[in-house]
Amino acid sequence: MKNKIFKYDFLIVGAGLIGSLTALALNKKKLKVLAIDGKNFIPKDQRTLAVNANSKEFLEQLGIWSHLKTKPQQINKIIIKDYINTPPLILSNDTEAMGNVINNSELLKIAHQKLNNLQILKSNININLDSLSPKKVTKIHNKHYSFKKIVISIGKKVTVNETKKSLTFNNGDYSYVGFFKHQNDHNNCAYEFFDKDGPLAVLPSPYMNNKRSTFIFSTNTRTSYPKIKSVIKKKFFSSHGKMLFDKQLHKFPIVPHLLKYHKKFLFVGDSLKSIHPVAGQGWNLGVKDIQELIKLIDQYPLESEALQSIYYSRRMVESSIYLGFTSMINFLYENPTNLNNNFVRFFYKSLLNIDFLRDIFIKQAMGRFSLID
Ligand SMILES: Cc1cc2nc3c(=O)[nH]c(=O)nc-3n(C[C@H](O)[C@H](O)[C@H](O)COP(=O)(O)OP(=O)(O)OC[C@H]3O[C@@H](n4cnc5c(N)ncnc54)[C@H](O)[C@@H]3O)c2cc1C
Repeated sequence: MKNKIFKYDFLIVGAGLIGSLTALALNKKKLKVLAIDGKNFIPKDQRTLAVNANSKEFLEQLGIWSHLKTKPQQINKIIIKDYINTPPLILSNDTEAMGNVINNSELLKIAHQKLNNLQILKSNININLDSLSPKKVTKIHNKHYSFKKIVISIGKKVTVNETKKSLTFNNGDYSYVGFFKHQNDHNNCAYEFFDKDGPLAVLPSPYMNNKRSTFIFSTNTRTSYPKIKSVIKKKFFSSHGKMLFDKQLHKFPIVPHLLKYHKKFLFVGDSLKSIHPVAGQGWNLGVKDIQELIKLIDQYPLESEALQSIYYSRRMVESSIYLGFTSMINFLYENPTNLNNNFVRFFYKSLLNIDFLRDIFIKQAMGRFSLID
């Protein structure tokens, strides 16, 4: 007897922080979706995400926001400081613009629960990406499937042949993430401090009566925990008071990149692009990938290649601007010549004094600014 072929609209390969939400958003559009992931467990991820206003609305629409057990920590002020002593840039006029901090694992757990309830997630499946093709029959757990479109969302581990042509920058950088208790209330204030070794973000955590924070230090130089602790103690003692650091330091590789156009697959999240974590916007950009995809599905037939070529070019405009901007900030701080320092000061001053520029800056931080709409 001939094998039955299950016909689906979408296969999502990789059900991480973006792939799982892509599957839920496509399912909400009444499309037939199957999501697979190489793991069969939710990895413990201590990281937090700074969720902007656009992404919060997206999570609300998917019915995820209201399920977050740990109350999202609303940021009411962002203070940007640097080691060349530029007067600090303080953003505080609109709390919606400042965003919320949530826990990565909690978000993933809720998304997976929803996918499991819908019975559209298969875990522990490691598939050879080179063997996949839209419309080609694919065997998964002894069943035969065909998919109109295949979305790759496996984070940074893209191994499909064509990615050899991809642009990759700064391999070898790391983000160090840790936690500390402190004497003073953090007052829901987030900090970005530009140290000469790289950007250091200190985010308020909702635990311990506002007396706990997370730090994310991204650097391309070798560093040690004592060194990181001493930078934080020096720079944040005046605001946070005495500090007690958790024993564990977590290390994540950073691979900022933009992927070249790929005829067979659609890419979302970090598989498509990843930016320097200066702006804490990588996941928020992934949400915009999903939103763009959903928008284009209403305009183009699923089978058409135009859908993915237009999707690709639209997402590349924004991703390139982010990558260019975050690379420029890193470059300026890594090379503190007089010219570069003056440029940084001029930029801060312009943001503080020119309403139009500040509005654009805040709008893009909220995920509500687009050059192409
Ligand atoms: C230290 C740090 C702090 C950050 N902070 C922020 C922040 O504050 N705000 C923000 O917006 N962004 C932030 N980011 C970026 C954000 O974490 C990423 O953009 C986001 O996690 C990308 O999600 P993803 O789904 O593309 O990849 P992932 O979440 O990595 O998911 C990939 C999934 O694919 C699966 N997989 C891998 N290979 C295969 C395979 N061959 N077959 C099947 N499944 C596979 C994996 O098991 C995993 O589940 C931060 C990043 C770092 C490193």
